[in-house]
Amino acid sequence: MNYHVLTLFPEMILDGLNTSILGRAIKKDLISLEAVNIRDYAEERRKGRVDDYPYGGGAGMVMQAEPVYQAYQAVCGRIAERSEGKPRVIYLTPQGQVFHQTLAEELAREEDLIFLCGHYEGIDERVLEEIVTDYVSIGDYVLTGGELPSMVMIDAISRMVPGVLNNEESAQFESFQDNLLEYPQYSRPEEWRGKKVPEVLMSGHHGNVEQWRREKSLERTLERRPDLLETAELSQKDRKYLVNCKYKSSFF
Ligand code: SAM
Repeated sequence: MNYHVLTLFPEMILDGLNTSILGRAIKKDLISLEAVNIRDYAEERRKGRVDDYPYGGGAGMVMQAEPVYQAYQAVCGRIAERSEGKPRVIYLTPQGQVFHQTLAEELAREEDLIFLCGHYEGIDERVLEEIVTDYVSIGDYVLTGGELPSMVMIDAISRMVPGVLNNEESAQFESFQDNLLEYPQYSRPEEWRGKKVPEVLMSGHHGNVEQWRREKSLERTLERRPDLLETAELSQKDRKYLVNCKYKSSFF
């Protein structure tokens, strides 16, 4: 997986992603990351400035089309040297579809991904029409720039790239798998400030542990994110459990 982030603040991307699990994956060449400074493609006479006033008036500045397009073309040139086809270009915007786990899994299958980070009031619409394939938001709130959203996406996508997580960090069962939230987790000590680890987890009985985890997962999803249950894969047994459980919701 090769990430190419078009940004006005490359250091933010590089500093933010070069640590921990992703830093290790970069060192092992499982993923690569380049942050392309859009300012490097500013017109000569504008000396690194890439924003201008919006036509029609109004507050704020808008990132100009040409420097963004030039930065994009430079990345495409490098990609074309080693592979065919047009890469997906993701524009981070509060106006896009909200990012979710299934999209992370889908994007993890791409060889190259280009992320375009806006700033100020956003980017001239004409270049977006020309290059963007996906408009993605990380939630219904407005941030100052697309750098944090692109880092959020890169983190979630990278976890799905084979080899990035080792066995201990494995994504085998996690929240959003089957559209359910994960069950609660416990570690040593057995008793902490009077609170005990559920007995079943120490029983060594694999079947009972699995059943307990499934039930907790159903219960927690019903309690915290009942909307997920509408598309979750549920067995008859799961449904029966949900109906009986104390957080019974109007969904059933
Ligand atoms: N004027 C724009 C609007 O109302 O849609 C918002 C611009 S915002 C201040 C600046 C940049 O931050 C956007 O171009 C986008 O790249 C990024 N951004 C802000 N909120 C975001 C979100 N929730 N998800 C993804 N990107 C976001």
